[in-house]
Amino acid sequence: MPPIEKHLMISLERTGKDYREVHEWIDGDPAKKAERHDVTKIYEYSQMFKDKYGDEALQEYIQHIHDDLKGKFDHVQEDLQKAVADTLAYFGVK
Ligand SMILES: [Zn+2]
Repeated sequence: MPPIEKHLMISLERTGKDYREVHEWIDGDPAKKAERHDVTKIYEYSQMFKDKYGDEALQEYIQHIHDDLKGKFDHVQEDLQKAVADTLAYFGVK
């Protein structure tokens, strides 16, 4: 998952604002980080962001979850490709 600074940069490029409050709320508290990335809570948290910071902040919250999900799966895919390559090499399969 991208670090907070990366999320700030992505928001800044997309909207002209870094939405630090949004990204720090999602990632800033290690004890609540998993809960705040829970896709089943998107409806609840979307309402909160919309009411507190407006529609654009709500979009940045959803984009944050999207970017983390993509980053995680890109990493899983890289690990899988390496594991497959290592396993094939181990057994001499070319
Ligand atoms: Zn995150």
